[in-house]
Amino acid sequence: MADFQKVTVLGAGVLGSQIAFQTAYKGFDVTSYDINQKALDAAAKRYDDLVETYKNEVPGAADGAADEARKRITLTDDLAKAADADLIIEAVPEVLELKQDTYRKLNELAPKETIFATNSSSLLPSDLESSTGRPDRFLALHFANRVWQFNTAEIMGTKDTDPAVYDKVVQFASDIGMVPIQIHKEKAGYVLNSLLIPFLNAALELAAGGYAEPEDVDKTWRIATGAPLGPFQIYDVVGLMTPYNILMNGDQGNRHLGAWLKQNYIDKGKLGMASGEGFYTYPKSDQSA
Ligand code: NAD
Repeated sequence: MADFQKVTVLGAGVLGSQIAFQTAYKGFDVTSYDINQKALDAAAKRYDDLVETYKNEVPGAADGAADEARKRITLTDDLAKAADADLIIEAVPEVLELKQDTYRKLNELAPKETIFATNSSSLLPSDLESSTGRPDRFLALHFANRVWQFNTAEIMGTKDTDPAVYDKVVQFASDIGMVPIQIHKEKAGYVLNSLLIPFLNAALELAAGGYAEPEDVDKTWRIATGAPLGPFQIYDVVGLMTPYNILMNGDQGNRHLGAWLKQNYIDKGKLGMASGEGFYTYPKSDQSA
């Protein structure tokens, strides 16, 4: 076991709530921080929904373990209280200045030994390290959406990360039931998104170009490779807004694909599994997280 007693997760949105819940589910006391009462109320609802999701989807969770996990999570909007931890996992919105500002404030409040880890999907840890005030105790710990099911944790330091800190975080990832994926040097997109984004774009090109229906693209991928999900099923799990935002920041070809996604799906309220419909429709019980 990593020698962490107190773990804080900053930001209790989609990913922050999942990381906090999974950490609590594996027996840690977790402080879940968000900015105000309204955000905390939304977080409390997310945790209640996660209790039900775990009961439905995680073997053994219905025998009291999911309810116990919920009790190990303390919600707060007091950053000083949140900063009192051995490990702080940051899952605040993907905005560089907001993350930097958060780290500056946190560095003032947290003990010197506290390790900071970012869950950022698209920023490199070296974009953030100077604002942490502790480059040797800072790295990326990147989870995938639906952490209880898609349980990779990609661990990526900067050239300044202390190897002992890196190893502790690898151990922690394992302690909370993740499969740690060690990345040896900084790479935008880590392993997962370096593979996934070109794959998802290629699928979109087939559908937007009128070559094949999304269902048939998925069917081809599943049958021919044995993969459980096709690319459009993955879009629905991720939610369509994140890929859309990435496409609209890309070149002209990417923006064309983004516009197609918007016109045919997003503008019709088809945002993916969480909204009940994306490329496929979902019964209410599938729509958690
Ligand atoms: P989200 O918008 O669902 O949640 C962000 C939360 O942060 C909100 O609850 C918001 O109130 C809170 N917040 C806003 N300002 C804050 C501040 N100053 N301090 C603390 N909390 C603040 O976002 P998300 O999808 O959970 O993404 C969070 C991070 O996780 C991002 O860096 C993103 O790249 C990363 N990530 C997301 C996914 C995904 O599939 N959604 C997957 C992997 C990684």
